[in-house]
Amino acid sequence: KFNTDLGQHILKNPLVAQGIVDKAAIKPSDTVLEVGPGTGNLTVRILEQARRVIASEMDPRMAAELTKRVHGTPNQKKLEILLGDFMKTELPYFDVCISNTPYQISSPLVFKLLNQPRPPRVSILMFQREFALRLLARPGDSLYCRLSANVQMWANVTHIMKVGKNNFRPPPQVESSVVRIEIKQPRPNIDFNEWDGLLRIVFVRKNKTIAAGFKSNNVIDILEKNYKTYLATTNAMNNDDLMMVDDKSSMTDVVKQKIDFVLKETGFSDQRAAKLDQTDFLKLLYAFHQVGIHFA
Ligand code: SAM
Repeated sequence: KFNTDLGQHILKNPLVAQGIVDKAAIKPSDTVLEVGPGTGNLTVRILEQARRVIASEMDPRMAAELTKRVHGTPNQKKLEILLGDFMKTELPYFDVCISNTPYQISSPLVFKLLNQPRPPRVSILMFQREFALRLLARPGDSLYCRLSANVQMWANVTHIMKVGKNNFRPPPQVESSVVRIEIKQPRPNIDFNEWDGLLRIVFVRKNKTIAAGFKSNNVIDILEKNYKTYLATTNAMNNDDLMMVDDKSSMTDVVKQKIDFVLKETGFSDQRAAKLDQTDFLKLLYAFHQVGIHFA
């Protein structure tokens, strides 16, 4: 009956369901977005507390079951189901997000929330345990990765509770965890793509040195392309640069020299992303920007 390709693991423990909804501290004036309501075990509880619930569900059978479940109840008119793939659904404003997330879309879902023009006040999300631990990992932890550094730039993440697999029907392969995500307001004044572009390079091999990450030809090509765009749009080339860039190979050399200069000057050459925190990456990003090197 359940389509596990769509991550359909229904939360059957009513205490856990109520616990998740209560952790959101919903106000009576709130609009709540629920991703993947399934048969509605969380939805009916959210409806008790919120002014309005928008539920994004991809499986028409589930949407039909949920519609039937609330039909004729006083909360029926509070619920709007958006049928379709959450990742392709345009969202109205919502104050709170609650999701027992279909695990295939864990990462895109987090970034979709982070990139809302007016982000929700709080999100309470159930994930596979390991994904949750990655969101929470700090520099030096074995699970610390690009996802950790990226999400923690834009949001504060806290662990709420562990949920064992036997609370679901059918039970998934792995354990789960519920986390709270509070997106920082105001948003840090950093370009998302620049930040993510730098992290992509340094986390390719998080235990290799930062300098090693910048040795790849692919990386140098991209940075060179970005540098040319930067020069074209800003006229920022100084005389020294001009003298060095009379053919293609020398432009590559300029970019390589700039990279070496920044890594040496900031002292990050021999360090490893696995141990660096947000402030370190920001220093690195700003130092690159100073010499006109961009990541997006
Ligand atoms: N919320 C219910 C619960 O806790 O019992 C069901 C959770 S189940 C883990 C995930 C739900 O998300 C399923 O109903 C599935 O059909 C739906 N789903 C899967 N992928 C989706 C997507 N891309 N967009 C919207 N819903 C999706």
